[in-house]
This record gives sequence, C-alpha cells and structure tokens, in this order.
Amino acid sequence: MRVVLLGPPGAGKGTQADRIAARFQLVHLATGDLLRANVAAGTPLGEVAQAYLDSGELVPDEVVVAMMLERLGQPDCARGFLLDGFPRSVAQARALDAYLAEVGAPLDAAISLEVAEEALVARLAGRGRADDNARTIRHRLGVFASSTRPLLDYYGGQGLLFSVVAEGTIDEVSERILHAPREVPRRATSGSDGVDDS
Ligand code: ADP
Repeated sequence: MRVVLLGPPGAGKGTQADRIAARFQLVHLATGDLLRANVAAGTPLGEVAQAYLDSGELVPDEVVVAMMLERLGQPDCARGFLLDGFPRSVAQARALDAYLAEVGAPLDAAISLEVAEEALVARLAGRGRADDNARTIRHRLGVFASSTRPLLDYYGGQGLLFSVVAEGTIDEVSERILHAPREVPRRATSGSDGVDDS
C-alpha cells in the first residue's frame, strides 16, 4: 500500500501516520523530520533547508523531491509507504507520480485530514517546536492554503482522495481514517466551491 497523508500544519499527520504505518507495516516517511535531521547533522541539504524551515516557507521543490525520491528508492519502501508532509505542492506531486509510474507502483490513496483553522492555531501554539511561533504558524497556514490545498483537487481528480475530519480524540480520528469513504471525483458544478476541473 502506498499512501500520502495531506493536511495543514497541526492537523495531526505525524500522530496518525505513526498509527497507520504500524497497523499496515508501512514505512513512515515524515519529510519535516528528514529535513530537521539534515539540519541537525549539518549536511549540505540541511544547510539549504534551514532558512526555509525557520521562516515556514517550503523548501524548494527540487531539494525535497531529490531527498524523497532517493529515500523511496531504498529497498524497505518496496513493502509500501506512508508519506507525511510530501508532496506539498502540485510540482512535488507530479514528480512523485512520474517516479512511481516509472517503477510501476502508483499511489493507492491520498488521505486528507481536515481541521478548522482555530483548532490548528491552538494546537500548534501548544506544541513548542522552534518554528511554532505565532508569525511562522500564520505563514505556514498561508503556504498550506496556496501551495498544498490544490493537491486535494489533484488527487480528487485521480479518484484517490479520502477526506477525514481530524478533530476529536486521536482514536476517533484513526477510526475515521480506517473507514473513510473515497471521494467521488468532482465534476464542475454551478460554482458551489469555485472549483472548475473541466
Ligand atoms: P508541519 O506539518 O507542522 O508544517 P512539518 O514537519 O511537516 O510540520 O514541516 C515543517 C517545515 O518543513 C515546513 O514548514 C517546511 O519548511 C518544511 N517542509 C516539510 N515538508 C516539505 C515539503 N514537502 N516541501 C517543502 N518543504 C517542506
């Protein structure tokens, strides 16, 4: 099983990803953790990434894509993987698709964790990571809205999208993920949400 987990900062991707990965024996790859490990180890990649992490900007697509495709090529990922924090832009999603098509192992699902913005801000403010200050949090939520949210239509159009309300207890959210119905690919309708996928 090959799955991507989507959701804004503070949606609980890491927590839920750990659980899903354990249950289905998937490799859990958290892009933010990999980037922070590179920063901590002082690698060239980490040196590039640091300023982006600190400001809440996306690390450039080429950098993140190279890091993730290298990791996905390692043998353990053949048993299936769960990506947490990647892709985060349509360019990243296209690069991932191209790679997976080449190795003949396409994605099975994209799970979107949905949380109201007030709840996100409260959760992030309580977490205490270096990039969890008020200004950076606001910026990361804006980056999510502009760069990452379009992925919902991208995967929705491929019939891969499952959306889950990620509020309530951790167990409740895990249960919803396991039983989430597939989103029916949307047709352009009379302006209900401004999405035009024609
Ligand atoms: P959160 O989900 O709370 O934003 P992450 O650990 O997933 O936490 O991400 C932290 C930071 O790492 C992001 O603000 C961004 O700078 C960088 N990052 C993580 N994933 C990506 C990605 N796929 N593309 C670009 N930058 C990324």
